Amino acid sequence: MEEKDIFLQTWMKDAALEDIYSKVLEGKRLSREDGIRLYQNPNLLAVGKLADIVRRKKNGNYATYVYNQHINYSNICLNRCRFCAFGKDENAHDAFELSLEKIEEAIQQRMQEPVTEIHIVGSIHPKFSYAYYLGIIKTVKRLRPKAILKAFTPVEIAHIAKLANMPVKDTLQELHAAGLDALPGGGAEIFSHRVRQEMCPEKLSGEEWLNIMKTAHRLGIQSNATMLYGHIERIEEKVDHILAIREAQDETQGFLCFIPLAFHSQNTPFAYLPTTCGIEDLKNIAVSRLLLDNVLHIKAYWIMLGLKLAQVALSFGADDLDGTIFEEKIAGMAGRTSPDSLTVKTLQNLIQEAGFIPRERNTYFYSIKKG
Ligand code: SF4
Repeated sequence: MEEKDIFLQTWMKDAALEDIYSKVLEGKRLSREDGIRLYQNPNLLAVGKLADIVRRKKNGNYATYVYNQHINYSNICLNRCRFCAFGKDENAHDAFELSLEKIEEAIQQRMQEPVTEIHIVGSIHPKFSYAYYLGIIKTVKRLRPKAILKAFTPVEIAHIAKLANMPVKDTLQELHAAGLDALPGGGAEIFSHRVRQEMCPEKLSGEEWLNIMKTAHRLGIQSNATMLYGHIERIEEKVDHILAIREAQDETQGFLCFIPLAFHSQNTPFAYLPTTCGIEDLKNIAVSRLLLDNVLHIKAYWIMLGLKLAQVALSFGADDLDGTIFEEKIAGMAGRTSPDSLTVKTLQNLIQEAGFIPRERNTYFYSIKKG
């Protein structure tokens, strides 16, 4: 055995992770108990090293970013989830809604830039019609026919289906035909019924969220998946959430990437909760990487993590930083301290300084070669 391997094995033994280390080397699937042990293990560097082994096997020495534009069409929301600082009542001073003309204007403002992805999410608006949502898709596709449109979380899709008075499957088919290419991964929060009752009782159940995603995947609409951590969830609930994604992925292979999202409590009834610490953020990235053997990419979403930690996360299992963004409002209203957009140069520098090779990708994680 090489000196390096002896060192690693001893290190893992000291961290009481030798058996998981063997499974990782052999490419074996980790169990629920393994996931709980990894979360409970205080040796962050050992857990991170295990995740890094998997990350390098799957994605080599590359870290990706996307040239994207975010548009939030409204924050006026019927659901008013307790953890959400973005959703507002109609008469709130900071409520907003964008007409289709305003959405067109937002896209026009960036027309000189090589945006490859338009990411659109909003709220459960009390008045917008089905035609409005179709109008968003048609507006984007008219102005940016080559960009990939990733829009509407399962929570919005369920609402749009009600407006359309059609089953979710038929609605998705119609939206897809109009130009919807992919779904973002939001709205998953934590699937646990206990947590959802406390934090977002009006929202879809975890099972409904998964069913909408699986329906989309079967229609050829791929998506991301998320997990919101750092609030009232328990370790077991996080592991069960990740394993539910893994199970769905075994069925459909439709998830492009998984995004652990750090909870920002400011301006919510949970403001008494501290901001997540770096240890917790990195642990969530690493354990997700280790448990999700069938999801190729793990995103360190710099908007939520901050730039410095997102950079470090690339050595703890993450292989993607998301993108240029532009005008992020959701975390902004919950007290985010990171900027709301980045240049490609900054993204490339962040990746290079972390010791990885930057690669621009599209929504489906295909490389975009320049020049
Ligand atoms: S999380 Fe989504 S559904 Fe819930 S209040 Fe916020 S915008 Fe509305």
